[in-house]
Amino acid sequence: MPYRKPIHAGQSPLTSVPTTSRSSSKGGGQAAERSGAGAQEPPRRRVLLLNNTFEPLTALPLRRAVVLVVCGKAEVVHGDAAGLVLHSATTTVEVPSVIRLSNFVRVPYRGRVPLSRAALMLRDGHRCAYCSARAETIDHVVPRSRGGSHSWENCVACCAKCNRRKADKTLNELGWTLSVAPKAPRGRNWRLLAGSSDPDPLWLPYLNTAA
Ligand SMILES: [Zn+2]
Repeated sequence: MPYRKPIHAGQSPLTSVPTTSRSSSKGGGQAAERSGAGAQEPPRRRVLLLNNTFEPLTALPLRRAVVLVVCGKAEVVHGDAAGLVLHSATTTVEVPSVIRLSNFVRVPYRGRVPLSRAALMLRDGHRCAYCSARAETIDHVVPRSRGGSHSWENCVACCAKCNRRKADKTLNELGWTLSVAPKAPRGRNWRLLAGSSDPDPLWLPYLNTAA
């Protein structure tokens, strides 16, 4: 067992945190996102919330995740990689990285995933679409100067070398091809990562990013 470094939950005991979450069958996933409890959170500490079926639902502030666990509405699937625990007056809770709801919640499908650098790199596996070297930038397949759009269908991850060579040329002019036509990723899993440049590695097995 690794050494477990205790951290403290501050002045208020865990049980004093208001809980507004619902694990009933109606709108639970949305309720889980209506979090107003972010103010006291360490800014980057989020916890991946899985449905009862292990489908990812959202990323929660740590405090709200701990409340779900303490109230018995969720269980810890993966604890913090460093083995952190939280103490209150009456209980000790493992700091979670991934938690799973005890009850299934139905979540409506949400539409198109916003294009971001982090999400695009994830879609393309951080590999250059032209040469498979490690990607460092984003390339517009049809250059923007030639009317190309800033869209999932016209953007690919790209290494610096290919990006310089490509410049304002089209693939036809260079004789280059793409092995896969770029397209928007589908599924709500992507929303969890679209704004996050360094997601917790413990989350990744639950996020189907290959789609
Ligand atoms: Zn390249």
